[in-house]
Amino acid sequence: MPTTTPAETLGRAADFFRTHAERVAAIGIASFGPIDLDERSPTFGWVTTTPKPGWARANVVGAFRALSVPVAFDTDVNGAALGEHRWGAGHGVDPFVYVTVGTGIGGGAIVNGRPLHGLVHPEMGHLAIPRDPADPFAGACPYHGDCLEGLASGPAMQQRWGMPPEGLPANHAAWVLEAHYLALGLVTWVCTLSPRRILLGGGVMRQEWLFEMIREDLGRLLNGYVRAKELMENLNQYVIPPKLGNRSGIVGALVLAEQAYQKQQDLASP
Ligand code: ZN
Repeated sequence: MPTTTPAETLGRAADFFRTHAERVAAIGIASFGPIDLDERSPTFGWVTTTPKPGWARANVVGAFRALSVPVAFDTDVNGAALGEHRWGAGHGVDPFVYVTVGTGIGGGAIVNGRPLHGLVHPEMGHLAIPRDPADPFAGACPYHGDCLEGLASGPAMQQRWGMPPEGLPANHAAWVLEAHYLALGLVTWVCTLSPRRILLGGGVMRQEWLFEMIREDLGRLLNGYVRAKELMENLNQYVIPPKLGNRSGIVGALVLAEQAYQKQQDLASP
């Protein structure tokens, strides 16, 4: 169903589950964010500061409370990371990072088998990275201007080059710059989270030539400092596309539902 206003969209989703209520044991939600996933918070289950019209302070989890089943809530990218970790290109890989490059840039990390949470949740797209001195584009992030998302998301490319990314040919200078910015993001994730693999998904990454360009740039930027076989010899297995395509998030939500169900069972057993 299309995403319109929170009341209409969440109402339709809740109605769907209500009509199948006898078969629903738990609900997992992998939501765009930023979101509040602190269960002790009065605004748990809400979308917080999104620029998406009407969705700031939308109570997502609340819409499903009437179903009286456990509801798990996480970011869309943590969900996608979970899905790929269970059934996809990150199977058994830990720590593991999934990043989407599309209308925004966001990343989820699996550490010790669980999505990484903290103050809130990681915001891997909003890294401060050095802007290329030859790049006159001021950046598209409403909060930071030229953060990674502001420089390298699909809308940022569209604004800089005057056409959507899928309209730019493989030999366009746009891709050299795009690969460079994304490689700078990867350097930070490699050096902070030490993931054993990084998946890059989302609409921009459907231009598959980007992968080799990013790997080359990443190798050059790391300059042999991080001594791991995955980086020194097997970069083409280290930075790869997701295996579940655009279903990573939805199957990740199933994993979230399963975890919420299991948690309830554990609490109920003596
Ligand atoms: Zn930003």
